[in-house]
Amino acid sequence: MAHSKDFYAVLGVAEKATADEIKKAYRRLAKQHHPDTNKGDPRSAERFKEISEAYNVLGDVKKRAQYDEMRRLGAFGDFVRRPGGGATGGFRSSGPRPGARSGAGTPPKFEEFDVGGFGGLGDLFSSMFGGGAQRPKASEPERGQSIETTLEVPFRVAVMGGKIPVELEVNEECSTCGGSGAAKGARISACPECGGRGSISFGQGGFAVNRPCPMCLGKGSVASEKCSACAGQGEKRERKKVLITVPPGTDTDAKIRLKGQGGRGVRGGPPGDLVITFKVEPDKFYSRDGLDLIAHVPVNVAQATLGSKVSVKTLDDKKVTIAIPAGTPSSKRFRVRGQGIEKDGKKGDLLVEVRVDAPADLSDEARAAMAAFAREAGLKY
Ligand SMILES: [Zn+2]
Ligand SMILES: [Zn+2]
Repeated sequence: MAHSKDFYAVLGVAEKATADEIKKAYRRLAKQHHPDTNKGDPRSAERFKEISEAYNVLGDVKKRAQYDEMRRLGAFGDFVRRPGGGATGGFRSSGPRPGARSGAGTPPKFEEFDVGGFGGLGDLFSSMFGGGAQRPKASEPERGQSIETTLEVPFRVAVMGGKIPVELEVNEECSTCGGSGAAKGARISACPECGGRGSISFGQGGFAVNRPCPMCLGKGSVASEKCSACAGQGEKRERKKVLITVPPGTDTDAKIRLKGQGGRGVRGGPPGDLVITFKVEPDKFYSRDGLDLIAHVPVNVAQATLGSKVSVKTLDDKKVTIAIPAGTPSSKRFRVRGQGIEKDGKKGDLLVEVRVDAPADLSDEARAAMAAFAREAGLKY
C-alpha cells in the first residue's frame, strides 16, 4: 500500500475536523490496526505506522498549524520529484544545533520517524524543501553485498563434523586509524552534510525518515584528511585466518552464513553476509547416499567364490567383520545398521559394497590351475 502524504486522508477526517474528531478517528483506527490484534499482518503494521505518523502531527495543535501552512504553500504536492531539489529551500540544517546528537558513539537509527523528535518542524521543512527532495532513493543506505564462496571439505570432516582453517576476507576495524577514518593529525569537525547529527531526514512516504548520513557514514564528524589505509571508511577488508565449523553430516551444497562478514554497507548501511557453500571432496574408500555410508571393499576372486570374512573400518575407526558368503557377486552390499552418518539425531547405516578383483600377472601354474578350474566349473572364457 502506498503511503499517503495527506495525514487527513490517512485518518479519514476532514481538513476542518476538530481536535476531538481527529482524536476519535485516530483511536478507532489505531485500535483496528494495532499490531497486537493483527499479529503477522505486515499491511496492518504499515497502516498502524501511518496512522501514528499522521496523529503525531495532527494531534498536536502547533504541529498541525504548521502542517496546514505547509499544505497551503503546496509543499506536499510535488516535493518528491522537484527537479534539482532544494531550489525553494533554505531550510536545510547547516550547522550543529543545540542538543544535537553527534560523535561516533551514537549508532545511526534506521526508519526512525522524525516528526516530533529533536528537530521538530525544522527537520520537517528541511526534508520537504531540501534534503528530502534532493535525495531520492539512490542516496539511501544499502546493506552491503552478500559474498559467496565455496569451501572444499575432506569427506571425513564433512561426515563427522569438524573445523577447517581458512583465510577469508573479512571486515576489520582499520588498525591505522582505530576505526575513526581520520588521518593522523587530521582536524575533526562536525559533518557539514548532517550538521553533526550523523543522520539526515529524508522525505519519504508520509513524512520524514531519519537515515544515517551518507557523507560521514553516521559518525557525525568528518576529518580534514582521510586515513589512507582505509580511505576514511574506518574499516578494511583484511585477510584473516578463521576456523570454519563444519557441522556433522554436511553434504555438498550445504551453506552456512557468517553474518556481517560480507561486503561493506553503502552510505552507512550494514555490511552484507558471507555465505559459504561446502563442497565435499571424494574419499578413496567411502562414498555416501543420504545418511548411509558406503564402504567400497575389494575382495579377490577366491573370497567371492569360496566365501570369506572381511574386516571393514567404520567412521570412528572401529572394525566390523563382514561374512562374505560363497558366490558373492561384485557390487553386492552388506548392511551394518547404525554405523552410517549421524545428523540431527538420525543415523544411517554402513553399507559394505564388495568389488571383486581379478588377479593379474598370474604365473604359468596359476593360469593353468585357473583354466582347469574354469573347465571343471563349466565357465566359458
Ligand atoms: Zn583507517
Ligand atoms: Zn554527516
